[in-house]
Amino acid sequence: MLKYSSSTTAQDGTTLSPDQVIQQARQSFQHNQIYSIKQRIAEVKRVIEYIRLNRESITDELTQATGKTRTDALVSEILGVLDNLHWNCSNAKRIFAEKKVHTPITLLGKSSHIRHEPYGVILLIVPWNYPLHISLTFAIGAFLAGNSVIIKPSEHTPMPGLLERIFSTAPLLASCIHVIYGDGAIGQQLIDARPDKIFFTGSTVTGKKILRHASELVVPVDVELGGKDPMIVFEDVNLQRTVAGALWGAMTNAGQSCTSVELLYIQRSIFTPFITQFKQAMEQLVINTGDQGNADVGAITTNFQAEIIQEHLDDAKRKGATLFSVGQAISASSRLIPPTLITDVNEDMLIVQEETFGPVVCAIPFDSEDEIIRLVNQSPYGLSASVWSKDLKRAKRVSHALQTGAVSINNVMLTEGNPALPFGGVKESGFGRGKGEEGLLAFTRSKAIIIDKQSGKKEPNWYPYTLKKYQLFGELIDALFRQDWLKYIKLALVGGKLEKTSQQNRGD
Ligand code: NAD
Repeated sequence: MLKYSSSTTAQDGTTLSPDQVIQQARQSFQHNQIYSIKQRIAEVKRVIEYIRLNRESITDELTQATGKTRTDALVSEILGVLDNLHWNCSNAKRIFAEKKVHTPITLLGKSSHIRHEPYGVILLIVPWNYPLHISLTFAIGAFLAGNSVIIKPSEHTPMPGLLERIFSTAPLLASCIHVIYGDGAIGQQLIDARPDKIFFTGSTVTGKKILRHASELVVPVDVELGGKDPMIVFEDVNLQRTVAGALWGAMTNAGQSCTSVELLYIQRSIFTPFITQFKQAMEQLVINTGDQGNADVGAITTNFQAEIIQEHLDDAKRKGATLFSVGQAISASSRLIPPTLITDVNEDMLIVQEETFGPVVCAIPFDSEDEIIRLVNQSPYGLSASVWSKDLKRAKRVSHALQTGAVSINNVMLTEGNPALPFGGVKESGFGRGKGEEGLLAFTRSKAIIIDKQSGKKEPNWYPYTLKKYQLFGELIDALFRQDWLKYIKLALVGGKLEKTSQQNRGD
């Protein structure tokens, strides 16, 4: 029976101060270092089993806390997180294993290794749009890497006790992952307590504040920030499927996804039929909360986000855009924003420039491949994108030219569906990669190790420096970097001479 040290998890912000939580996490890191990756994987499997068996009650909690539809909660949060955890369990041992790497001929007789060591205490600062998925995927990756973890959920979707309940099924894991509730001020205090690395997921505005704060303390940070994702549709697509993809990409999670489609670029020759079909598909959407799994679009999670969306819509209308909405005029308290398609937009509109994060999408015609690449790349954001065309050569060409962290070809938001793929942005969408091999290694520091034998031999580059050695090193450079067949003969000759000279003392 395993005995785990440190198990006091902060139940709320009042029991333990941020400083104490970091200290507690540091202690649990020290005490729990002895546990192997095999033992850690076994703990994660318990978590998977708990979530699998309790998925309906977890879905209840998620829909209540966020207002999202049951299907969004079940698929994007629960299925998404289980997929990631399962992939981590199958791959963590290989990814974190010490690796032997090539040792060059000049270091003959040695062996070289890379160890992936945990940082210590990882601080996860989490947003409100996917509160379960983001918390668990990163926390468990960090735990598997050998770290202790502190999760600070968003103050808007704390779901008190849910994470602790999930973790309690796995005692070692529960002793390594600590949850502390609170707002941005608690987040700042946690940073002040100097965790060993911060993983921040949230808005670009907050991300910049955290980068400034952490830089003062020289704490490394990975930042997954906002987006204004484009979907690029060329004229040769299957219209019906592409319209269905665009609609889901724009409206899933009521548009509150960092990678949801906000700008729908359609090649001019199919713009009108595309828009007609899109509107028809919109009219079929079921908008609801408290559903049994049969509603398509849920509510906006916070009042302030609903206000931002409304501000973008009002600004667009004022500046001449055409808005097409479906659904009833809904009371402000329900936070149900009607799905909206916006056409006739221009660069001056907030809805084109800023992240809207709602069930609204701007449709914009374009003419050529060059034009669309230029348009997309002038955005300050670069999270993900999608390119739709039957001509795969063209789709790949465009996907390579886009300055984004991910591109789905002939599909939407799909890179996130494969746990083996890295996730993260460029430009103001952040840096660092979560998920996949890179995502797991991001929770580790690489340590370089080289092993030599115990012998009486001195290295050629050690003292004494002599004129003879100097000449031999010149010959060594010539031999090492020449491109012809004489290389190995020359190397053997000069290597032998250097070796002999190296064992001599000055004056020998
Ligand atoms: P936010 O930036 O307002 O808050 C995120 C977290 O940061 C919260 O837990 C908050 O309490 C905390 N926080 C706020 N100020 C802080 C400070 N000064 N120091 C430390 N912590 C602080 O973001 P949000 O509104 O919760 O989430 C929506 C945003 O997240 C959108 O912009 C969305 O695009 C982005 N997002 C990005 C990704 C991604 O992977 N790129 C994923 C999901 C969401």
